[in-house]
Amino acid sequence: MGLFRGRKIAQNVWEPALLTQWLIPKNASGNDYNRVGSARHERPSPLFHGPEKHPWMSIMLYFKVRENYDNLTILIQQFVHGWRDRFGHVRQAEKRVEATPEEFTKRLRAFAADHPEADIVGFTRMRPEWMFKGQLPPKHPWIVVVAKAMDYDTLSYNLKGDFRTAVKAVMGGYERNHKAVVDIANWILKQGYSAKGYGGLTMIKDEWHVMIPPAIECGIGQLAKNGSMINDQLGSCFRLATVLTDMPFVADQPREIGVDEFCTSCKKCQTDCPPGAISNEKQLVRGDVKWYVDFDKCMPFLAEHKACGLCLSTCPWSRPGIAPNLSQKMLKKMARQATPAH
Ligand code: SF4
Ligand code: SF4
Repeated sequence: MGLFRGRKIAQNVWEPALLTQWLIPKNASGNDYNRVGSARHERPSPLFHGPEKHPWMSIMLYFKVRENYDNLTILIQQFVHGWRDRFGHVRQAEKRVEATPEEFTKRLRAFAADHPEADIVGFTRMRPEWMFKGQLPPKHPWIVVVAKAMDYDTLSYNLKGDFRTAVKAVMGGYERNHKAVVDIANWILKQGYSAKGYGGLTMIKDEWHVMIPPAIECGIGQLAKNGSMINDQLGSCFRLATVLTDMPFVADQPREIGVDEFCTSCKKCQTDCPPGAISNEKQLVRGDVKWYVDFDKCMPFLAEHKACGLCLSTCPWSRPGIAPNLSQKMLKKMARQATPAH
């Protein structure tokens, strides 16, 4: 074990490097902070990045420094994202365009379909419980969720141990998807409605909200064993971004695409996760039993490798062209199981 790089000591057991061990808080678990084991429904705390101070701050900072210091591409991606957050939105038109929610939904879907950085779009009503703890109640009644594929070839460099290249797919995915949501917000603003686009790197105090729960609610995909979502076109290889707005839409519904059924018998991400952060069992987290990734095991590995995402690239659904067939197969299997034998 070195100062900066730990070592594998057994299958799915990673011993963190000396510096990482020193930075890991001694009496604080990120899983406790995430309320693992708690039956109480409550809003999540912004652990990964956010305005709240927490014991994992030092290691998060260490991760950011390591991730950025020798990677000009991701520095540029983050700069562009931040610049667009600050200066990218247009002024709201004074006169409102009048149309029905059905018509606005149709028009926005058409706009998103033509946008090169928006692959999938979904609509649902915004909920107060989707704001992180300590944030203000949502100002807008609607949330539009946009998914954008990451470049699988770049991401899958992590399968060869090259995390520095792989992270360009992650940051690039955030940045490109952010362009889509700011353009969508501007499309709405020009029609006289209020709107704001948020990317995965947007850090605006009081406006932090989760993206996976609304994405599930509007049918973009389902939560998978790797703690991320799977979509039936893009697998687990995509990023999310959102628009909050008062333009009225028709809400989408959650969709069954066979993810849970598949994850229950698949162990690929679990086996391939070097620190063993992925569990074969769902966990009780803030009142819901769901797939959950062990923060205390994942974070040190992530920090000392400048990135990871192996659980995204190794997932069979993420290989280009595979997800639609897998989903169809699982849905047929589930339909057969649901049909009583004669
Ligand atoms: S990013 Fe995924 S594969 Fe990597 S350590 Fe975390 S859970 Fe494991
Ligand atoms: S690798 Fe297998 S278990 Fe893990 S998320 Fe993908 S389908 Fe689910």
